[in-house]
Amino acid sequence: SNGSTDSKSLRVKLVLLGDSGVGKSCIVLRFVRGQFDPTSKVTIGASFLSQTIALQDSTSVKFEIWDTAGQERYAALAPLYYRGAAVAVIVYDITSPESFNKAQYWVKELQKHGSPDIVLALVGNKADLHESREVPTQDGVEYAEKNGMFFIETSAKTADNIGHLFQEIGKRLPRQQP
Ligand code: GDP
Ligand code: MG
Repeated sequence: SNGSTDSKSLRVKLVLLGDSGVGKSCIVLRFVRGQFDPTSKVTIGASFLSQTIALQDSTSVKFEIWDTAGQERYAALAPLYYRGAAVAVIVYDITSPESFNKAQYWVKELQKHGSPDIVLALVGNKADLHESREVPTQDGVEYAEKNGMFFIETSAKTADNIGHLFQEIGKRLPRQQP
């Protein structure tokens, strides 16, 4: 079978966008390797990681994950990065309203310039830092609802909702008609 078109086996490009420091690399490492390393300044760089999951209907989804090495600071480079992406995961830090504003900027950019059928997910990360929370859950919920996106709060540190995030993305991928 052809891996990219067989309805039981999908292969998709996934990009992560969001302010520097919100935890994009940590989310990827948690998902792909089941690890969290608070000491290392994680930078995956130009290489990408992949991870395959099985959905409940037994469809397998191979995520080809593009993490950035700080290119998120240069908005002009972003289109090169998200070109052809089937999924964009837009991440903010629940302790940083500034990062939530930046996430909204990325949503608009992807709505304008991303692939027409791109799946957008909004992620409030660092949910374990509830005592320092500055972005109410409801703000994320409402913004995502208005924009027809999937929303979830995660913690790469505790692993909370990381697997769930990728399962929900998998469910929302467009399928080939049989
Ligand atoms: P990136 O620049 O978006 O890739 O962010 P990183 O993945 O490099 O993470 C930035 C910092 O946030 C690191 O010091 C991480 O240890 C920390 N971090 C990432 N995710 C979490 C999380 O879920 N909870 C907490 N408490 N810290 C996190
Ligand atoms: Mg990073």
